[in-house]
Amino acid sequence: MHYYKPEGSRLVCLLCAHYCHLKEGQTGICGVNQNVDGGIKNLVYGYPIALHVDPVEKKPLYHFLPGSRAFSLGTIGCNFKCPFCQNWSISQEKTLHVKEFVAPEQIVEMALKYECASIAYTYNEPTIFYPYAHEIAILAHEKGIKNIFVTNGFESSEVIDDMTGVIDAANVDLKSFNPNYYKKELGGGLEAILENLKHFKRNGIWLEVTTLIVPTKNDSDEELKAIASFIAKELGCETPWHISAFHPDYHEQSLPNTSLQTLQRAQAIGHEAGLAHIYIGNVGLENPTRCFTCNTILIERKGYEISENRLVEGCCPHCHKPLAGVFDEI
Ligand code: SF4
Repeated sequence: MHYYKPEGSRLVCLLCAHYCHLKEGQTGICGVNQNVDGGIKNLVYGYPIALHVDPVEKKPLYHFLPGSRAFSLGTIGCNFKCPFCQNWSISQEKTLHVKEFVAPEQIVEMALKYECASIAYTYNEPTIFYPYAHEIAILAHEKGIKNIFVTNGFESSEVIDDMTGVIDAANVDLKSFNPNYYKKELGGGLEAILENLKHFKRNGIWLEVTTLIVPTKNDSDEELKAIASFIAKELGCETPWHISAFHPDYHEQSLPNTSLQTLQRAQAIGHEAGLAHIYIGNVGLENPTRCFTCNTILIERKGYEISENRLVEGCCPHCHKPLAGVFDEI
């Protein structure tokens, strides 16, 4: 795809749903895409600021190659400004770190060296470095490595179409169901994210959804019901929902940690909406995966480790119902 198009004297960046209209020399909201000499230059292409080998469960993805490693990378910058960001030191960083160029081939070589089944584009918002991610992803597929996007879901629809067949799985944050909160406090847009979640699903990208429960911001019964019902109705009851605990960070220092009671209330609301797989994150619970049909424990976890995986070719060993997800390729 072309990552930008001309409109009058400006270029429109097509990477995310902000669709920034940039004059020559101007940089978009994300701080890393700039109109330079009649094209949009991705300023972080080849300059990851974080490279780690993580369990795929840490993304979090619980139904995608469980127990495997994901070679994880991120750059600086973000197209949102969430006041509670837990990765703010890189997502809100404005200074470019352009000392050592890391070519897409080198990322794939490192993933192979560390025996990773996937490469995860994560830590900051990967949509804003999509030209880099896309090239890595194509090379990764050639070597049998899968690709994961950990994203705020504010891609352009053009990018989601372009990802199809290249990005295999996504964990998408659905941070709220309040359009004003999304716009004013987070710098995003609820409507585009809801459309994109359906778009990911339609295009066959394996999808898990995460909601960070922030006390007083998105923890009312009404809002949690709206989120859970949307997932159940539009994405399917077997879409995993990760509800995770907030702790004070960045500009949001005055709110308390999310209580276990609130997380369990959210879980009960999710079950009531019909969701089969709800996982509580950031509080050290074990979070087993159970069969939707007969309740047999299929995968047991301790932290980010899998202590037992009882799936047989992706199915329950008791009633043989397939578990939704991607299991059989490692
Ligand atoms: S990635 Fe999004 S925020 Fe950044 S320049 Fe492009 S449209 Fe704007």
